[in-house]
Amino acid sequence: MDSFIKNNMTSVEPIGEARNQKNNLCSSCGLCSVLAWPVEQSVMSCVFKNGWLGEREKKLFGRERSLDDPVEMRFGITLERFTAQLKKPISGSQWSGIITRLAMRAFEEKLVEGVISLQHTPGHHFFSQPVLARSLDEIHATRGNKPVLSPVLSSLESAYRQRMKKVLVVGAACHLHTLRDFQERHEYLREMEILTIGIPCVDNVARSKWPWILERMSKSPDTACHMEFMQDFRIHIRHLDGSVEKVPFFSLPEELSDPSIFPTACMSCFDYLNSLADITVGYIGAELLPKQKRQWILVRTATGQKLLKLIDAELERYPESGKWECRSFVENTTKRIIESMKETDKEYSPKSRIPLWLGNLLAGVLGMIGPKGIGFAHYSVDFHLIRHYYYVKFRFPEQLEKLVPRHVRSILAEYKLPL
Ligand SMILES: Cc1cc2nc3c(=O)[nH]c(=O)nc-3n(C[C@H](O)[C@H](O)[C@H](O)COP(=O)(O)OP(=O)(O)OC[C@H]3O[C@@H](n4cnc5c(N)ncnc54)[C@H](O)[C@@H]3O)c2cc1C
Ligand code: SF4
Ligand code: SF4
Repeated sequence: MDSFIKNNMTSVEPIGEARNQKNNLCSSCGLCSVLAWPVEQSVMSCVFKNGWLGEREKKLFGRERSLDDPVEMRFGITLERFTAQLKKPISGSQWSGIITRLAMRAFEEKLVEGVISLQHTPGHHFFSQPVLARSLDEIHATRGNKPVLSPVLSSLESAYRQRMKKVLVVGAACHLHTLRDFQERHEYLREMEILTIGIPCVDNVARSKWPWILERMSKSPDTACHMEFMQDFRIHIRHLDGSVEKVPFFSLPEELSDPSIFPTACMSCFDYLNSLADITVGYIGAELLPKQKRQWILVRTATGQKLLKLIDAELERYPESGKWECRSFVENTTKRIIESMKETDKEYSPKSRIPLWLGNLLAGVLGMIGPKGIGFAHYSVDFHLIRHYYYVKFRFPEQLEKLVPRHVRSILAEYKLPL
């Protein structure tokens, strides 16, 4: 084991589920570690107990997403969608830093008294610790991805004990589902005005597995400090010396396609694009262009519009681009996905991998002929919801009815896939 792995393995383990013994599907969202109210009340709001979207979506928007609108079925209910980047990107942020800037402006304008988010665990580039940020410097320090399960909601405890009235929460879909349910179901946070910014989120990992995964993705895990799965079918890993290692998805070792490397909770996740956020800020529907950091913005509520207005003058905006159609690309992968979700005892070879030159060739060809912009987002949403549907169906059939939102079945029907 090298020094990087040792350092990371000794760091904090997820604390979110520490007090929850009852629910075995858990993304360590952090709510169950709050001591200010009984853990049983936290568990009642868990998205893995209540299921994705459905009534929650209806409560927020007054209706569920339309099953007659193929775009809304995938991207969720929105008031406005476009791509954009900050004219002055924030160094150290994941893309151009739109989320960090939104949070800083909301604080400056006194829309909120604190921001519930994550900072990096000191000394780690990829691990997180929850924070209730109460100054511009603390909010600035929340920038950048932490690609591990993260107990964001544990900081609700500080906000509650400090009797805060207005709070911004930045989180993944599991955080925001559980938070919205908890705020409505119990009295503790009812007086608190909670604004939300969502990240799209998929393929997150448990921190205990992260070093093992990084070691298999990068030639130099010790020096890796930033990582993203990109629209050019490659992982871009930035190193401390500024160099960027690009690894085609096709050249990853076969053992990284084993579904068991991802937490069961993330393989049972059905809201990639964070549809209950006031505003979702990602990149997957924006075109990847040289020397640009275009992001994809999905404004969902009036609160999201209010937040966006705070940074409007700082944004370069562009309309969405790309062709919607991606059916043949999804169909090319569905048979293989369904088979791999079925095979619970398959042995994945650590040695087997496509050579880099061939992986780059495949990524290059797909980059040219494959879906782009909103077509790529369409492809990625469909790929993951098909994968997750069959994962739950074959491994936890008793959870299928509860967890899966109704639009997923309509999308499977579009591809003529069996339920
Ligand atoms: C595991 C993971 C997978 C993702 N997958 C996709 C994807 O497939 N498609 C896509 O469009 N976007 C994805 N994202 C989001 C994307 O990488 C960017 O975070 C987003 O576009 C915002 O960029 P930014 O420059 O505005 O962020 P920044 O200004 O750098 O702010 C990022 C914010 O996200 C918070 N954050 C970071 N990690 C986590 C976490 N694990 N849980 C909760 N909050 C976190 C940070 O604390 C910070 O507040 C993913 C993020 C994560 C963590
Ligand atoms: S996901 Fe959150 S609410 Fe659900 S069991 Fe885990 S810590 Fe508790
Ligand atoms: S993939 Fe889903 S369950 Fe996992 S951390 Fe992201 S939003 Fe939560």
